[in-house]
Amino acid sequence: MKIAIAGAAGRMGRALVTATVAAADLTLVGAVVRPKDPRCALDAGVLAGSTPCGVTVSDDVAAAITACDVLIDFTSPAASLHHASLCAAAGRPIVIGTTGLGPAAADQLRDLSTRTAMVVAANMSVGVSVALHLLAIAARVLGDADVEIVDAHHRHKVDAPSGTALRMGAVIAEARGQMLADCAVYDRHRRPAARACGSIGFASVRAGEIVGEHRVIMALPSERLEVAHIADSRQGFADGALRAARFIGGRSCGLFDMQDVLGLR
Ligand code: NAD
Repeated sequence: MKIAIAGAAGRMGRALVTATVAAADLTLVGAVVRPKDPRCALDAGVLAGSTPCGVTVSDDVAAAITACDVLIDFTSPAASLHHASLCAAAGRPIVIGTTGLGPAAADQLRDLSTRTAMVVAANMSVGVSVALHLLAIAARVLGDADVEIVDAHHRHKVDAPSGTALRMGAVIAEARGQMLADCAVYDRHRRPAARACGSIGFASVRAGEIVGEHRVIMALPSERLEVAHIADSRQGFADGALRAARFIGGRSCGLFDMQDVLGLR
């Protein structure tokens, strides 16, 4: 399967280039950077911090889409939407790992997924996908537990709470028959009040180079269940994205997430 990577100069892009080159069943055919990025014409393997791989970094995303079987995109919300529309026009599947996609972007991706197949997941790690599955079970059984979700990430991350924290909240709300928008509490600073029954609280830590940690507390009056996931490196996200690419390659349309990729639905 031929893979192109958009956002190849980024933290995730470099991990994906390395993981794709190392995978025996995948061939890297494109490594796309931001338009006019000075790193164009470098070897993608060198850009990723390892040995040359024979693929030249480029800012021509349309050419990369034409050349690949699947585009893997870890860029920015605006760039991911643009790339998804190009993939839809070209009939190429796309794996999107970018976070911070709001409800309007999610609607646009749903529309585009009628024309090409997509995996969209705020967290590609297999461990987080299993955690989401466990949280749905726990939320159903623990009914009215107080839920608090804490995420910790590196100092460069711009969106908060993390996409994964929001996804965890949405899974728990759905399992309890709630809408996350109706029960989420993002800021207790401005509105001092005791905790509302059924609310789901969020807190975010941004510090140093923390790769990604999520802890969900589900507290009942006399006991507490905690589900935690800790990413030790970006390798797990990259491996999950490649699994998603293998799942989506050759499909014609549809919107999928990691629960589909891992058969957890
Ligand atoms: P980063 O800032 O290191 O990399 C993003 C890269 O995208 C940059 O090099 C930027 O120049 C590039 N880019 C922007 N617009 C582009 C365009 N039009 N064409 C090509 N490249 C473009 O960020 P990162 O840590 O690699 O994360 C990227 C995104 O992935 C973020 O939204 C992050 O939250 C998300 N992320 C998701 C997962 C997951 O498992 N789904 C894991 C880690 C990070």
